[in-house]
Amino acid sequence: MPGDQSTMKLTFLGTGTSMGVPVAGGFGGKEFSKEDSKDERYRASAWVQTEESSILVDVGPEFRLQTLRAGLSHIDLVLVTHEHMDHIAGLDDLRPFNYVQEQALPLYTTASCIKAIRSRFDYMFGPDRYPGAVSVDMKELTETITFRDCRITPLPVRHGKLDILGFRINDLSYLTDVKSIPDKTKERIRGSKVMVLSGLRWKPPHPTHLTIPEAIEVARELEVPQTYLIHMNSGVVHEETSKKLPEGIDLSYDGLTIEI
Ligand SMILES: [Zn+2]
Ligand SMILES: [Zn+2]
Repeated sequence: MPGDQSTMKLTFLGTGTSMGVPVAGGFGGKEFSKEDSKDERYRASAWVQTEESSILVDVGPEFRLQTLRAGLSHIDLVLVTHEHMDHIAGLDDLRPFNYVQEQALPLYTTASCIKAIRSRFDYMFGPDRYPGAVSVDMKELTETITFRDCRITPLPVRHGKLDILGFRINDLSYLTDVKSIPDKTKERIRGSKVMVLSGLRWKPPHPTHLTIPEAIEVARELEVPQTYLIHMNSGVVHEETSKKLPEGIDLSYDGLTIEI
């Protein structure tokens, strides 16, 4: 039944910032711990499973590797937060899902992200579409929709000057690349059991991302019982940072699966 809160499973496919952790070339990786696998982070993406739905949030550059690692072999719906490449670079790897499922994948996002995907992946669209290219059916998400056993509500947030989306799926609110959250969106998040929220680094402040202390403030204000931080950079060492976080706020890590 739509809205009926059957158990939902969330798998963190990737929890790293735009360059991943460690970054290409090993640059700036002084703090990154080679001993702890929780300090290796693919680009941010999540897989939400309910009884009737398998939902992918964002399709980053490691999407192929993430599917293999997590055993993700079926997608009913794709949600995309915004057009930065760390969230859409893996779109081409949806091809095998098209082949097996024999249909276009529904994809919900913002109008500006639809425009960006059409231009950057031009070979997937229009009269000159490359035969066999990925087939996605893109729609702008502007209001709550019911998708099988999920109620999906767009959560508009600001990522610097860019307007992007988080998503509330039943009792889960997923927000990445956040700098600020408008009051209207805060109201939509309230009452969630779990929130996923980006926290780039401890300090200094960043023009387009919340820091971890700023994310903690947001989590406290919204009174969500459990928050998981994502989109961390290589300066965030899992073990020592985890010790500094207040109750109800944890660092996520790649491969972590929780039930909601
Ligand atoms: Zn990002
Ligand atoms: Zn971004």
